[in-house]
Amino acid sequence: MKITPAIAHAVKSAVNRQRLIDTAVRLIAAPSWTGEAEKACDCLDQILSSDGWEVDRPAAGHPRSSAVVTHLKSSRPGRILQFNGHLDTVHLPFVEPKVNGDLMSGSGASDMKGGIAAAVEAIRVLRDTNTLPAGSVMLTAHDLHEAPWGFGQQLDQLIRDRCVGDGILLPEPLHDRLPVVGRGGATWKVTIRRSGPPVHEVMRPADEPSVIAAGAELVARLGRVGERLAKKSDPLAGPETVFIGQIHSGEIYNQYPQECRLEGTRRWLPGTGRQQVESEFRELLADLERDTKTSIQADFQFIRDDFHLDQNDPLVDAFQRAYESVVGS
Ligand SMILES: [Zn+2]
Repeated sequence: MKITPAIAHAVKSAVNRQRLIDTAVRLIAAPSWTGEAEKACDCLDQILSSDGWEVDRPAAGHPRSSAVVTHLKSSRPGRILQFNGHLDTVHLPFVEPKVNGDLMSGSGASDMKGGIAAAVEAIRVLRDTNTLPAGSVMLTAHDLHEAPWGFGQQLDQLIRDRCVGDGILLPEPLHDRLPVVGRGGATWKVTIRRSGPPVHEVMRPADEPSVIAAGAELVARLGRVGERLAKKSDPLAGPETVFIGQIHSGEIYNQYPQECRLEGTRRWLPGTGRQQVESEFRELLADLERDTKTSIQADFQFIRDDFHLDQNDPLVDAFQRAYESVVGS
């Protein structure tokens, strides 16, 4: 479909700024830490229902906060464009919504209740202006997105249940460009142990390994892995990385500790594959375990795969032309 200046004008002038702000404020005002997003899901359901939309609530494996689904159908068959977003927020203290001129703040304002409010306003505008010539738009919102409290299980179930469109737009904070490539991500937690009890350092058995030294060795080895990974880089997505965010060990200066814990992330590019990433990581730990005579336990929590968008897909061009016709550049 060609987006004429008349269509762009009709769509732009149908956006109701106050209705959009009210929607975002109501969603932000409903606390929704990951796994506990029922208030925000119910709130979105109420906003849509009272506005005349037919709403489905598939549990998708998480009945505590069932997902929210609605459709805008045109009179002709065609492809389905999906707007999908998460209503959960990271586990930080709740912040009330506030609107100050052009600035909106509060828990999840930018990630991504503001975006979901914009998606809701978009389907209202399409309905009010009757500008959808064929196909339909599906709006879906869910919980269990933010790691490490959720790992996309509810979204995965929605996908398995075929609750998906032919093309999907996600109103994440990066709103003014179309990401065409993204890195996969995982979090990891490693615990290095020795077998003996915590003892005064003068009494430590000579053959007991130092878990702090083993932790330091892991930091050094991951540093070398990081240098190697930095050479694998995508001009848009950046390099593959391994990152250490925490290291903890010991209780007091003169006691020989039993445990050293480290946590971090790993990000990879299309073509590498999550299995390869995890097995390389576990191999590195197995070598370290043998070399340091410690015992090592590791959690490798996969978050999301890498992606690569076909830039020749018609949706890419349609999205960019639509954006341009509304924004002007
Ligand atoms: Zn987000």
